[in-house]
Amino acid sequence: MKLKNTINILSKEVINQIAAGEVIQRPASIIKELVENAIDAQAENITILIKNGGKSLVQIIDDGVGMNAKDAKICFEKHTTSKIKTTSDIMEISTMGFRGEALASIASISEVELKTKTNQDEIGTMIIIDNSKIRKNQKIATSKGTSISVKNLFFNIPARKNFLKSDKVEMKHILETFIKLAISNHDIKFKLMNNNQIIYNLSKSNLKKRIIQLFGKKYNEKILPLKEHTSIVSISGFIGNPLDAKKTRGEQFLYVNNRFIKSQYLNHAVKNAMHNIIRPDQHPSYFIFLTVPTESIDINIHPNKTEIKFQDEQSIYQILKSTCKKAIGIANIIPSLDFTIEEAFEVPAHIQKSIPKEPKLTINKQFNPFERSSQINENNQLFKKLFQEDESKHIIENIMHIDENYALFTILIKNERILHLIEKRKALQRIIYEQIEEKLNKQTVLTQMLINPYNIEVNTLDMELLKENIGILNNLGYKINFISKTSLEIIGIPTKTENYNLKDLFEDFLEELKNKNTNINNKLISKIATQIAYQNSKTSDIFNIHNKESLKNIINSLLNCKTPFIGINGKPCVINIEPNTFFD
Ligand code: ADP
Ligand code: MG
Repeated sequence: MKLKNTINILSKEVINQIAAGEVIQRPASIIKELVENAIDAQAENITILIKNGGKSLVQIIDDGVGMNAKDAKICFEKHTTSKIKTTSDIMEISTMGFRGEALASIASISEVELKTKTNQDEIGTMIIIDNSKIRKNQKIATSKGTSISVKNLFFNIPARKNFLKSDKVEMKHILETFIKLAISNHDIKFKLMNNNQIIYNLSKSNLKKRIIQLFGKKYNEKILPLKEHTSIVSISGFIGNPLDAKKTRGEQFLYVNNRFIKSQYLNHAVKNAMHNIIRPDQHPSYFIFLTVPTESIDINIHPNKTEIKFQDEQSIYQILKSTCKKAIGIANIIPSLDFTIEEAFEVPAHIQKSIPKEPKLTINKQFNPFERSSQINENNQLFKKLFQEDESKHIIENIMHIDENYALFTILIKNERILHLIEKRKALQRIIYEQIEEKLNKQTVLTQMLINPYNIEVNTLDMELLKENIGILNNLGYKINFISKTSLEIIGIPTKTENYNLKDLFEDFLEELKNKNTNINNKLISKIATQIAYQNSKTSDIFNIHNKESLKNIINSLLNCKTPFIGINGKPCVINIEPNTFFD
């Protein structure tokens, strides 16, 4: 290309389009900007309407403060914002990303229709704008609040339009954006519709309820509350029970001053707090809110950046880690005692003061090793050490049944004899669980045809989801016929899973699909395996667990498990007893 040697001043439209490239990459970016505006306008109800993954329509309707006729006209100008007035405001609110750019950008790359009215005004305003040019500006009757519809995204920039992905992929981005906003704004009612179908209808709630609304009722028991207040940072929110950590990254949401951020470093703090409870390949879920003084962070105010710099990142790391540990300790998942000892060493001296009270310890005097989980760590390490080092050389001896539930046995390894107490039923459950899990994982399970097919009715939206994802169930060994737009029948199930409730399976499956979870396969496997392990351990005569020889086999199978010492309910199924800790 031959460049002409003249300098041109770019037109307003082109300048806006260039800026728009940074702010608006895809329909999900529009949702983020417009929903944030509605939140800033103190909306209590926000409705989001999507058509075709947001490519043909994104509409946000709020009941916030609205705009008067003058503001409605100028809000599409670049650098118009009601949120920053003086330079001294900048520090305080820069973290929120107010740059007065979103509406100007959106209006330069799509066809926008704005309807808005304030409480004080009798009559509202409607503006239609595209290519940064106002096409219509008139008075209309409308209710208090603002509705902005964005049509034909990138209609005037074909190159950008071509970059958009399929409706389904764009919808996935929209859902991710929506969920991030819905979590941190749980006191706002949200409705999300796609092609006239309701995807989410969330009532005003607290954080925990919002998490359950979004990710399912299983989170009711699974999350542990966080609460900490120091001069450097305040922490609230929830972490998932580490015993439910999954191999695929689950729900991980971290907010700083109510803004979603990503931080590998702080993610590691949470994971580190679960050191020894979760395996290195597992990921905890969390919904964590950090509040820090605005002057202590440097957030790149680029609206799409989710990275952040903290002044004192290391202290925040330590405080976050100890807060998570405390939550886990309170839930009695790891020994509280360990926690305090370790903590005293871990907190760097210079921030000792800002870490408030040590967690209070209550020691359970009614010591029942199978109800306490205090031995998990030691057992964990001990077993690992003993059996991974030299698997062939351990000898199981001295098996002694105590009663229906418990037995004692010793293991001889390298001239060391270690006494163990086993809870037989729990051990059996662990073994069955891992066997089923492995079979389902490897897809080596056979299908067993049902004499009476099982019928399931769902709505059309769910049916679409099911159809798209039926491969997951097929791979597990389920055979399914689609009968009509709303009904299907299960004609085959994986062998040995006849005890698994098919209604539960479909409900769980749909819930996972709706949440757009990525590790559905593993979650289903874990659910199926858990339920079957419970059922079969009750009724099973695979092993006669009260016979010495079969108990020896059970112990051997258990020692070959991936997690041999923790029952599937998260509590120990074997503990080792070191007499010298009692008698010395
Ligand atoms: P910013 O949010 O950074 O101020 P925007 O371009 O997103 O910039 O919005 C410009 C201005 O338009 C806002 O500062 C606000 O005054 C007004 N505005 C935008 N959306 C709404 C809304 N939903 N309700 C009320 N006012 C709004
Ligand atoms: Mg904005």
